[in-house]
Amino acid sequence: MPAPRTPVTDTLLAWYDANARTLPWRSPPGAPPPDPYRVWLSEIMLQQTTVAAVRPYYARFTARWPDIAALAAAGEAEIMAAWAGLGYYARARNLHACAQAVTRDHGRRFPESEEELRRLPGIGAYTAAAIAAIAFGEPATAVDANVERVVARLFAIATPLPGGKSEIRVRADELTPPGRAGDFAQAMMDLGSAICTPRDPDCGRCPLEDDCAAAASGDPAVFPVKPARKAKPVRRGAAFWLDHAGEVLLVRRPPWGMLGGMRALPCDDWCAARSGEAAAPVEADWAACGTVSHVFTHFALELDVHSARLLTRPAIDGEWWKIEEIGEAGLPTLFAKAAALARVRQEEMA
Ligand code: SF4
Repeated sequence: MPAPRTPVTDTLLAWYDANARTLPWRSPPGAPPPDPYRVWLSEIMLQQTTVAAVRPYYARFTARWPDIAALAAAGEAEIMAAWAGLGYYARARNLHACAQAVTRDHGRRFPESEEELRRLPGIGAYTAAAIAAIAFGEPATAVDANVERVVARLFAIATPLPGGKSEIRVRADELTPPGRAGDFAQAMMDLGSAICTPRDPDCGRCPLEDDCAAAASGDPAVFPVKPARKAKPVRRGAAFWLDHAGEVLLVRRPPWGMLGGMRALPCDDWCAARSGEAAAPVEADWAACGTVSHVFTHFALELDVHSARLLTRPAIDGEWWKIEEIGEAGLPTLFAKAAALARVRQEEMA
């Protein structure tokens, strides 16, 4: 239960009134809350993604699907293609599932409580609190990495993450005001992204400097205290660019799992030892094009790209896509990079 306003809360809200970022999914400070559909859409897109990357996607999605019913009625493949390049593709599948659940089970209106929001596909604790606070003014505390950092510094919480999270949560709850919870959540986000940045907090510009224990310590960047870092495991894989008469073979990945449901180049299962002999989709005179490196959340991938040109089209599952229109295939970034590498190689050989 949020406590009454503290001096820190009042200072932060006053700073927000004068310095709030203007973003297309936001209302100005103190104004009526924005459309919950747009709050939800932006919060899903912003998960582990920068504002700059989200802006064009948000504009395209809201132009094409202006409300929850329109998004629910869209085909999943259309949504996946429109999401291509934004990453973390499970979000796009859950976006569609959530739109359908809200349309079907809630009369096209998002529920207002954190608890009910959390039952919807793709909405976790942070997103539920952010929607409840920003769209409905509920006194919910949205704790993401920005808020975690600001709060850990304000109170100089020395317990390493993830153990320190519960203390951070308690402190963040204490700061959340009973009114203006949405503005408070957005103020914390703005402060964390613009001033209290991970490596180089600009305490001289921070409205909370006088109340900040980490600033007083002289080395605020050590908070929040991180656990020792483990290197990401590296997986190996191979992808195949097979073209014939100006078209390239694309496949649809299985609906679940990494990049599920997306168009892709044929490839192996990304865990074979690098032998150079991963199974190709057909027998051909394969040429090595090079290797694409890509980092996922839990592992890094080294993907060897091979290419071949056939004089006759083989009978094989997949879609033959015009090479000159490959930019419209909605390939995720990994396969867009692999396709670009293969095309360079094909041009060299032409
Ligand atoms: Fe972050 Fe410095 Fe502000 Fe403390 S004073 S909240 S460390 S920017």
